[in-house]
Amino acid sequence: MLELAGPPVAEAVYEELKAKLTHLPYVPHLRVVRVGEDPASVSYVRLKDRQARKIGLSSQVDVFPEDTSEATLLEHIARLNADDGVDGILVQFPTPKQIRQQAVLEAIDPAKDVDGLTPVSAGRLWSGQEALESCTPAGIMRLLRHYSITVAGKEVVIVNRSNLVGKPLAAMMLRENATVTIAHSRTRNMAEVTRRAEILVTAVGRAGFITPEMVRPGAVVIDVSVNRVGRNEQGRDILVGDCAPEVARVASALTPVPGGVGPMTVAMLLFNTVKAAMRRRGESGTVPITTGSPVE
Ligand code: NAP
Repeated sequence: MLELAGPPVAEAVYEELKAKLTHLPYVPHLRVVRVGEDPASVSYVRLKDRQARKIGLSSQVDVFPEDTSEATLLEHIARLNADDGVDGILVQFPTPKQIRQQAVLEAIDPAKDVDGLTPVSAGRLWSGQEALESCTPAGIMRLLRHYSITVAGKEVVIVNRSNLVGKPLAAMMLRENATVTIAHSRTRNMAEVTRRAEILVTAVGRAGFITPEMVRPGAVVIDVSVNRVGRNEQGRDILVGDCAPEVARVASALTPVPGGVGPMTVAMLLFNTVKAAMRRRGESGTVPITTGSPVE
């Protein structure tokens, strides 16, 4: 069984980006906005900010208190949209309940939408136009390409229909000529559906959801989920995906959790930041059109 490790692929993306940055006469600037102190969000934001600086981007985190109103956040986004020094804007979700995710996404200038989640970015992706692409699915495509796993003509089943993962991934898989099925909580005969997959992507958020019986022998399995199932002796979270451990005996290739898709998500965010900076300066002819290809 081939382990589809994310860190070496993320590292390859960072090397490409660092090489690209040395040739740019400016330093792209990423602005990450966090509202409240949700511990997972605090750690994700820190990770993104640190990694951005590590490869030579300029990055700043704007932190707002938990009780921030939607109007206040939208005003801040409007300022970032208007600020010519800002290339990429990312608002970390989930936001507190008084702030609607959709309102936030609609407020972000699509040209600076480095998370690839605004309705304009989603629409451009689905209609086959060049776009800033949703980071987790883009990371999955890049991971597959790195490990020479072809998608064209294959049966791909994605168990997830969120705007964050399942829908944009389906668009990318279609673009690369896969036959795509999206499954979800209302899907009947789930095991029958997942067993069809030559490439099975799961992002349900339930440990042990995918059992070996649900996997076609020799399938490639991409486990996107990050489930906290307890703490170890050092007090650290124990993280697992959706796949039962025995899935490794049936699959031909599998992403580990942690250390699979997760690192790719951050890498693609920084990829998008460089891409957005170049596009904003009218360098669109020199940025990649396909997901996860090197920044040329
Ligand atoms: P989400 O919006 O809650 O989506 C979960 C999906 O699973 C939904 O489509 C849901 O179906 C489906 N589902 C839930 N229970 C099911 C069941 N019993 N049978 C079949 N389908 C079921 O979550 P998300 O934001 O897409 O994230 C999904 C997972 O991916 C989470 O564990 C998250 O932590 C992880 N994630 C990881 C990364 C990374 O970088 N590694 C990035 C993003 C997300 P319905 O639509 O019918 O409810």
